[in-house]
Amino acid sequence: MPTGIYQRTEKHRGENIHNWKGDNVGYGALHDWIRKRLGTPNICYECGVKDENIKYQWANISGEYKRSNGLKDWKRLCCKCHVKFDIRNHPKGEKFWSAKLTKDKVIEIRKKYSFYKYGSHTLAKEFNVCPSTILRIVKKKLWKHI
Ligand SMILES: [Zn+2]
Repeated sequence: MPTGIYQRTEKHRGENIHNWKGDNVGYGALHDWIRKRLGTPNICYECGVKDENIKYQWANISGEYKRSNGLKDWKRLCCKCHVKFDIRNHPKGEKFWSAKLTKDKVIEIRKKYSFYKYGSHTLAKEFNVCPSTILRIVKKKLWKHI
């Protein structure tokens, strides 16, 4: 994670947008940035569901994942709507919503799942992703190359 870039950008908060070096930061840093400014999502903008047991996520509307597009380029979605949204808007964007995972984690997920000790919901909590992402990994629709 490019923490140096992130810190420098933080100092420039509110200043001239051209000072920002932040458009090439990783997915994680971008989500930290959005969370700091807009808080943790707790309602889905798409279906309106409000439930503290549901995980909400920030979805990028333009698909450009740029800080310079501003905060209006983001909306909160529940897991279900986020997956639908991503498939509709970024059909080739798998790397964005599996970016939290590494090769080792993918292997671990497949191993644990195949032993029937873990369901997709347990694994989703453990790895901080959507249950549908777990299923896509297990069925090799994501991370096919591993
Ligand atoms: Zn929703």
